[in-house]
Amino acid sequence: MTYEQLKNEESKYVMNTYGRFPIALDHGEGAVLWDVEGKRYIDLTSGIGVNCLGYKHDKLIAAITEQAGRLMHVSNLFTTEPMIRVAQKLVEKSHLGGKVFFANSGAEANEGAIKLARKYSFDKYGEGRCKIVTLRNSFHGRTVTTLKATGQDRFHNYFFPFTEGFDYAEANDIRSMRTKADDMTCAVMMELVQGEGGVLPLDKEFVKAVEALCREKDMLLLIDEVQTGIGRTGSLFCFQQYGITPDVVTMAKGLGGGMPVGAVMAAASCANVLTPGTHATTFGGTPIVCAAANTVLDIVGDGQFLAQVREKGEYLKNGILALGSPAIHDVRGMGLMLGIVVDEGKHTAFANRLIERGVLVLTAGSSIVRLLPPLTITREELDEALAVMREVF
Ligand SMILES: *Cc1c(COP(=O)(O)O)cnc(C)c1O
Repeated sequence: MTYEQLKNEESKYVMNTYGRFPIALDHGEGAVLWDVEGKRYIDLTSGIGVNCLGYKHDKLIAAITEQAGRLMHVSNLFTTEPMIRVAQKLVEKSHLGGKVFFANSGAEANEGAIKLARKYSFDKYGEGRCKIVTLRNSFHGRTVTTLKATGQDRFHNYFFPFTEGFDYAEANDIRSMRTKADDMTCAVMMELVQGEGGVLPLDKEFVKAVEALCREKDMLLLIDEVQTGIGRTGSLFCFQQYGITPDVVTMAKGLGGGMPVGAVMAAASCANVLTPGTHATTFGGTPIVCAAANTVLDIVGDGQFLAQVREKGEYLKNGILALGSPAIHDVRGMGLMLGIVVDEGKHTAFANRLIERGVLVLTAGSSIVRLLPPLTITREELDEALAVMREVF
C-alpha cells in the first residue's frame, strides 16, 4: 500500500490524536529505516528514545522469539524468571539496593512512584502529607495524574478535575524549591535532563541541593528516568552522573528496546512500601517483554558500550557545532540525548527539512530540534546525518 492509501484508511479507523510526519514506515536495520515506498532514512529518533539497540538486532530478536515459543504471558499471580532477572540487573547495576515494580509505560511507572511516595508518607505521618513538587517545564506522562504532575499549564486543560496535590518549582532555583516544598510535601519528582520540555540538563548544584532538602524534610526524591535511563545519557542511569542517591527511579522507553515495559525502582529505604493489594497491573513484567529487557540490560549495561554512547554523543555534538551554521545557537544535552537550539519557532521547519532529506529527527520545547538516535548508531550513519544537516542548516 502507498502512504496515501494508508493515510486515508488511518483517518477512517484510528483516532486523530497525533500530528504525524507524512511517512509510513515499513522496516529497519541498525539506525536505518525504510518507508513503504522504499525511501531510506537515518533514524535519529529511535521511536522517541525507545529502540536503543536500533532495528533488527539479532540478539534481541532471538531472545523475544525464544521466549515467545516458551511463555509470553501468565499474569502476576504466578512467578516467572525473566522478570526476576530484569529486577536483579536493575538493582545491582544501579547500586540502589532496593526492589522493582513493573509497569507497561512511562506514565504508569510515574503513577506507581507517586502512589509509593504518598503511601510512604501516609504510613509514617498519616493523612494529608501528600503534596508532590515537580519542576516547571517538566513532562511526566498523559494519565490524569501524570498530566497534573507535568509542570506545563497547556497540559492542564479539558480533563477536569485533575488529581490534586501537585505544585511546581522553577528548575535550577533551590529557593523556589524551598518555598514550594512545605510540611505537607511527601516527595519531589523531576527529570535530570528535561526531555519534552527542551532537552535541558539540570545544574548539578541544584540537584544536589534538592537531594539534601529531601533528606532534611524526609521527602522522597523521585527521579523520572523514563527518557534519560537505560544508557541514553551515557551512563545506565543519568542520576549516576549527578552523584545522587534517589529514593525512587522510574524508567520505560529504552528498557524493552522496543517492547512496552516500564518500571519503578525503589531504594532500600522504601522498597517495601507497596504491599499486596495496594498496586498491581495485568501485563506488568510479563515474560515476553522481560526477555527483551534482559537482553537490553546485558548489552547497554556494559561499561564499554556506555563509553561508546558518550563518545558518539560528543562526536555528534561537536560535528553539529562544527557546521558553523548561524542558524544553530547551541547544542545541549548528555550522551545521545541532544537538542539543537535554533530560533524560537523555527524548530519544526528545520525538522521537516531534515526529514524530507532522509534524516528523522524530533522536536522539543519551542526551539529545539531533538536527537535521540539508537545507542548502536555507527560513525558512518552519524556522518551521513551530519552531511544532511550541513545542507539544511
Ligand atoms: C515519555 C516520557 C514519559 C511518558 O512515558 P509513556 O511511556 O509515554 O507513558 C514520562 N516521563 C518522561 C520523562 C518521558 O520522557
